[in-house]
Amino acid sequence: MGKVIAIDGPSGSGKTTIAKLIAKELGFGYLDTGALYRAVALVLRNNSIEPEDSDEKLADVLGNTHVTFNNCRVFLNGKDVSEDIRSAMIDHYSSVFSSRKIVRDFLLNAQRDAALNSDLVVEGRDTTTVVFPDAKKKIYLDASIDERAKRRYLQFTKKGINIFMDDSKKNIMDRDSRDASRDIAPLKVAPGALLLDSSNLSIEQVKKKILDFIGIVS
Ligand code: C5P
Repeated sequence: MGKVIAIDGPSGSGKTTIAKLIAKELGFGYLDTGALYRAVALVLRNNSIEPEDSDEKLADVLGNTHVTFNNCRVFLNGKDVSEDIRSAMIDHYSSVFSSRKIVRDFLLNAQRDAALNSDLVVEGRDTTTVVFPDAKKKIYLDASIDERAKRRYLQFTKKGINIFMDDSKKNIMDRDSRDASRDIAPLKVAPGALLLDSSNLSIEQVKKKILDFIGIVS
């Protein structure tokens, strides 16, 4: 098992940007667990699965589904779906389907396997609490709701997708409340985690604070 640095936090807190930078700095692999949940939501919706459908129906689809993450790209049964998973629709359904135990169980080993032969920086909602409770270092990255909504709005507009700031804020608040209030693996601060608010910090400042916290990983 490799060394693991785990970063959790709500939507738009900057986890992806920072996790990639830290992985590069340390020479570790990188895993975006949100991308796995997004790919599962995509395959479920492509098979017309509704959030209230039975576990059996979800199991039928998941039984024929293989999700992998490699080089910052996510693959669904071998097909690169990295762009397809970045829509407002998948924002919503990933958060809805991720509250189902059958979905979380389906992805648990895939996440742990990523650290079997490689040191890893991993980011998500429960990587510090459930997936890697023994991670070498744990970080909880946060930012104010207005800052997170602004970042998400800019991400969409940069890609040419038109959304209103108010919709971006509502989308994030809905997801946060679902992710933090669900029964299984809710988003929360793990004991021993560095709690960092990035609202008024530059990316470089956040990176430095995290690297200082990590220190030398032996
Ligand atoms: O991080 P990202 O916004 O891409 O994640 C999409 C959704 O996947 C989140 O809103 C959350 O519901 C779910 N997720 C999760 N556990 C993780 C990572 C993501 O439940 N470890």
